[in-house]
Order: sequence, then C-alpha cells, then structure tokens
Amino acid sequence: MQNRSCIFCKIIQGEAPSSVVFEDDKVIAFMDIQPVNPGHVLVVPKVHTEFMGELNDDGTAHLFVVAKKINEALRKSSMRCDGVNYLLADGEVAGQEVAHVHVHVIPRFANDGFGFTFPKTYLTVPERMTLEETAQNIRKALDISGV
Ligand code: 5GP
Ligand code: ZN
Repeated sequence: MQNRSCIFCKIIQGEAPSSVVFEDDKVIAFMDIQPVNPGHVLVVPKVHTEFMGELNDDGTAHLFVVAKKINEALRKSSMRCDGVNYLLADGEVAGQEVAHVHVHVIPRFANDGFGFTFPKTYLTVPERMTLEETAQNIRKALDISGV
C-alpha cells in the first residue's frame, strides 16, 4: 500500500527518479540523493509504513538482510569503504525526515567528517542499579512472543 504524498512511495512506483541498486517484491535500495559519503544507499520496504513498529517481522528481517548485502557490496566495490554505519531514524525527534521506514547504509573512512554528538550525561557511567532498573523497565514492556 502506497502513500500518494510520500517521495519514497513515488520512487517505488517509478513516479520519481532514483538510481536503484537492488529491488525485489519487498524492498528497494537506491542511492541517497544527498549522500553523507559516496555510496550512501537507502534500503526501503515497499509497503508504506512510517515507523518500524508497523512493519511486520518478515519485512523487518528482509530489510536488514538486504542492508547487510549492500554493506558487503560496498566493501567489495571500488567505493571508498573502510567501515559502514547503518542508520535508522524512527520518528522525527530521532532525525526522521522522510515518513517511510528506511535504513541508511553509509560507507565510512577515516576523517570523512561524519560523526555523532553525545549529551553531556554520556560522560558519566550510571550505577549498575540504575542499569538494572532500566533493563527491568524495558523487559516489562517487551513482547517477544512469536519471534
Ligand atoms: P531521514 O532523515 O528520514 O533518516 O533520511 C531521509 C533521507 O532521504 C536523506 O538522507 C535524504 O537525502 C534522502 N532523500 C530525501 N528525498 C529524497 C529523494 O527524493 N530521493 C532520494 N534518493 N533520496 C532522498
Ligand atoms: Zn511511502
């Protein structure tokens, strides 16, 4: 199911241009129009879902298997690729700009200028008790049935 106002759905439908690396019935992988580094690929499920939680488990597994294959291809290709970042922004506050699930596969090399910023609190390692309480909090919410 596609969303008429979604740029990735338009690419999937062939209504907007793209440079495709791989396509099957479940996913399409194409070059990011504004690459962090040359070779930056987006892997996109063909079904329009905004958030990861809406994608079924098979679709999720396939998305990441294809992302792994793109990683391997980048490393074998003539692109400069000494490492790879997978990046998935799930929600606007996490940096999601296109409201259709996608995995960035970004080739990395030394001093390429890309990186992450960390909050000040990152420098303080929390007490084990705090980590345990947090783990319990997440465990209580975790529904892993059917996996
Ligand atoms: P997000 O911030 O949602 O994780 O990433 C969206 C990505 O989609 C950005 O890296 C941006 O460059 C890419 N993008 C946005 N519009 C287009 C487009 O029309 N074509 C392609 N190939 N990539 C796009
Ligand atoms: Zn879409």
